[in-house]
Amino acid sequence: MAAPRLLSGLGCLLEMPAALGLVSRPYSTSHTFAEVLRMPERQLTKLVFPLQELQRHLLPESRPVLHLKTFDPSLEDIARAESFFTATARNRIEYLSSAQHLDHAPDLLRPEVCFIGRSNVGKSSLIKALFSLAPEVEVRVSKKPGHTKKMNFFKVGKYFTLVDMPGYGYRAPEDFVNMVETYLKERKNLMRTFLLVDSVVGIQKADNIAIEMCEEFALPYVMVLTKIDKSSKGHLVKQVLEIQKFVATKTQGCFPQLFPVSAVTYSGIHLLRCFIANITGNLKTNG
Ligand code: GDP
Repeated sequence: MAAPRLLSGLGCLLEMPAALGLVSRPYSTSHTFAEVLRMPERQLTKLVFPLQELQRHLLPESRPVLHLKTFDPSLEDIARAESFFTATARNRIEYLSSAQHLDHAPDLLRPEVCFIGRSNVGKSSLIKALFSLAPEVEVRVSKKPGHTKKMNFFKVGKYFTLVDMPGYGYRAPEDFVNMVETYLKERKNLMRTFLLVDSVVGIQKADNIAIEMCEEFALPYVMVLTKIDKSSKGHLVKQVLEIQKFVATKTQGCFPQLFPVSAVTYSGIHLLRCFIANITGNLKTNG
């Protein structure tokens, strides 16, 4: 659990918020991470470690299935990761460019992570939530049918680039195949692909196309379960177990631990930031 680890590092975190860039940032929710750290343990766990919270609803024999400890950073690690996502004069977080073809993508200067998912899965909302510490960043949304969809590149300081890929689904198979496939296959600095699955409905046919692509290109990828605030705990537990079983039995390249998130309650957002900081090589976690 988080609490024992919290005790060792909490004192200094609360004493040095400025060093961590935790002061006066306008969160979309009212919580700074220093405030999160002061929450009662149960509330903190729900917000920061939603998978751990779900574990409480499982029978003991099902618990190892959740892979809770595969990525298990301390609260200090998570607090440090926040600073990468906090816009300051020295850490510019900004929209870089859009591209329809890989030839027009920015240079391979930084490690890259990309977010893919069906239209309406909650991708823009998730990216906005990840960038809530840089509220001036505009996450562009282009949803009009027939409107050209592009890959949008965001620079996160000198640390990494985050790429918002066009949503796929019935309306956009061509965009997806032409653009996303080439990108996934050829992008040299792509460190990890985040494949978003709507926790309300689970893995859909269209998601399988993306999964097959990641598998075919032997990409390391991670499944992120969106909109977890919309379901009952029972439904969510069922989805998590089903998807984790799928990951364990049908995939090679998918990270065994799922990342449940909500762009409404911010549950899971801090942990996901920490994971991104970690896999882009910017944060060595103790976990
Ligand atoms: P995109 O097409 O994948 O970019 O999806 P959007 O981010 O635009 O979200 C699609 C719809 O789902 C919108 O109505 C959002 O308000 C809603 N939505 C997105 N994320 C969440 C979430 O975490 N919780 C809830 N309750 N609704 C969400």
